[in-house]
Amino acid sequence: MEKSVQNSALEPVTAITNVRIFDGDQIIAHRHVVIKGESIISVGGELPAEATIINGENATLMPGLIDAHVHTSIGGLRDALKFGVTTELEMNGDFTQRGREIQLKNVNDVADVRSAGTAISAPGGHPDELLPDGDEIPEFILKELEKLSEEDREAMLAAYAHDHEEIPQVTTVEEAIKHVHTQVENGADYIKVMIEEGTVMGAPGLPVLSDEILKTAVKEAHKLDKLVIAHVLTALSSQEAIDFGVDGLGHLFIDRPEYTSDLVKSIAGSGAFVIPCLVLNSSIIGNPASELANDPRVHSKLSPDWIDILNSSFNTFPQGNMENSFQNVMDLHRAGVDILVGTDVAPVPVPNLGGLAHGASVHHEMQLLVKAGFTPIEALQSATSKPARCFGLHDRGRITEGARADFILVEGDPTTQISDTLSIKSVWFNGLQQLD
Ligand SMILES: [Zn+2]
Repeated sequence: MEKSVQNSALEPVTAITNVRIFDGDQIIAHRHVVIKGESIISVGGELPAEATIINGENATLMPGLIDAHVHTSIGGLRDALKFGVTTELEMNGDFTQRGREIQLKNVNDVADVRSAGTAISAPGGHPDELLPDGDEIPEFILKELEKLSEEDREAMLAAYAHDHEEIPQVTTVEEAIKHVHTQVENGADYIKVMIEEGTVMGAPGLPVLSDEILKTAVKEAHKLDKLVIAHVLTALSSQEAIDFGVDGLGHLFIDRPEYTSDLVKSIAGSGAFVIPCLVLNSSIIGNPASELANDPRVHSKLSPDWIDILNSSFNTFPQGNMENSFQNVMDLHRAGVDILVGTDVAPVPVPNLGGLAHGASVHHEMQLLVKAGFTPIEALQSATSKPARCFGLHDRGRITEGARADFILVEGDPTTQISDTLSIKSVWFNGLQQLD
């Protein structure tokens, strides 16, 4: 007892003062926040005498950003944090509870992460078409490994081996049930299912699991109290996913058929959220993210490899157009569907997966949402309070007493000028100020 009181007394107290505060929902009247240890102890109120004061004049304080669709790595999580993205939600990858224990044991300069573990897909189905053939570790991963510290390298290889020893085959209802249980035993935070026949990915005819298997997987995940997020890129597969009972769509359908208004009603009626990843749709139709790559606020924070990636694009569906995606996302938004910021960025810079980078693309996504018709405040809600609520991350996404002290302090006012989110002065992660 005495010890904990002492520890608590030793925890530094910091106050960020004279600052505009976006609390995850709105701009509030209070002008300061006090943090102690890992938490916010007050918003407004009296300033403790012992507090170290950080003057936030002309700046805006916001909750740490959340990217609700990534595939990540230690390097990816590190880049995310540099851009004020304090939580990444992985939608197929290694960072389950068990993966975090293996990989992040001695790492503390990275964003927090949650994961679906390995997604449910047909043998040879998505995302196989995006990955190099063979069992060898691909060249671009070896290149990344060379740059890592010995410790990070070992952790990454251990996770890779663990992952590749037991890639589960799902071809039957029983295997789907087993797969869901395996992910949950590994500490998956939610379940991901792939419904991708390949046209938009430039690989038409990809195998997809049967309706019965997919429906069973969703049901089993719900029995275990896990959300299910579906990979879907078309209107048709989005309707299927909703019919199977998923809780969220990991993408926004890129087409806009005649029945779109019915689909929008169906998604809204189901209560599912949508993670549009407009940055990915933009890349799929062939747009590189060059404006973002050339922004000095981005350029200075990323490696040359990631800058090259931003300057390229998927370009697997050049017949598509952004106007459809903008209209689709606005229809969903107006129908009351929760729209969450996500990017679908890859764990390491892979040459054919262009237009996306950890952290930076979250800011790009908010810009595209505003371009589609969101107010800047709505775009900010989609990267803070909304993803926290939809994923049950009740300790973050809001600036409120008792919440985790995950903040981003930016010059200017992103609630009127969304691109100001990139003018980062400082980032706090779990109460610790991150220094460049
Ligand atoms: Zn993805």
